[in-house]
Amino acid sequence: MRNLGSRKEFLKELTKDVKRDLRNYFQDRDYGIIAVTREDALRAFVVRTTNLCEIARLRHKLSPIATAVLGRALTGALLLTSLLKHGTEQRVLLRIEGDGPVGLVVAEANAKGEVRGFVQNPDVPTFTKVENGRKKFDIAKAVGKGVLTVVKDLGFGTPYESSVPIVSGEIAQDIAYYLLKSEQIPSAVGIGVLVGETGKVEAAGGFLAQPLPGASERAIDKLEKNVKSLPPVSSLIKEGKRPEDIAEMIFKGFTTELLALKELSFKCKCSKEVAGRSLFAMPKEELESLKKEGGVSIKCNFCGEEYFFSPEEIDEILKEKEKGTN
Ligand SMILES: [Zn+2]
Repeated sequence: MRNLGSRKEFLKELTKDVKRDLRNYFQDRDYGIIAVTREDALRAFVVRTTNLCEIARLRHKLSPIATAVLGRALTGALLLTSLLKHGTEQRVLLRIEGDGPVGLVVAEANAKGEVRGFVQNPDVPTFTKVENGRKKFDIAKAVGKGVLTVVKDLGFGTPYESSVPIVSGEIAQDIAYYLLKSEQIPSAVGIGVLVGETGKVEAAGGFLAQPLPGASERAIDKLEKNVKSLPPVSSLIKEGKRPEDIAEMIFKGFTTELLALKELSFKCKCSKEVAGRSLFAMPKEELESLKKEGGVSIKCNFCGEEYFFSPEEIDEILKEKEKGTN
């Protein structure tokens, strides 16, 4: 039994024509696809996040290794939107609190495919390790040991929050561990961010593959084998593979069917109004001195956007505060 509910009518086999349509429609933009297998109950969410990772790098002036860390977290948060209802305002926040030099890592994504996030230390210097004869960023060392927390805001009542220890620090494995321990969903997760010589993001993406209720043992074994032999997802994207191509590789030996599509973007919901509220919360004396200094810039942690408040605007806030206290 496939647990597809009312979305069954959207199922489309990934034929050559469908793949061409996807290419023409999305071109070089970031997007994700949800795919299932026709013959068995397997599901995968595969995303390309190159552009949004590059936007995050520019907005936060991230060092190369900080780019790789935040890029993985942003991609991971988007993969975790699998836990949400498609297309809604529901949100998931991924918080990684490790003792490594990058410090706190936060990424928040909603079910519409919008993501934002930051790292505590954007200028952390790069250090590498050698793996299979190749020099790689040592992400685990940058993140360190600590706790990974996922907060799900489903739009009703208190958000659901659950934490697991950081088991690897490479982020993808940690998300898989969270899904198994906290959500009881055995999953294979792969995430990669390729940073070029100049620090620019050359390719980024990820996948989350899982058996649905009723999947056969044979299908689960095959899925595991396919995922194990899959090259790093960032190399696949770098060589021009698209989410649908990667889904086919994950589902090798099955017929891959397209269930849903999602455009992905770096987007923050901050505004001058929200920034103004944080000023409003400041003591009167502090506002008076900011006014004398010629105004103040309030920076949004999540996206790096700065909102300037002139002395006149601070005066307005002071007047509002007066009203509130009388
Ligand atoms: Zn913002």
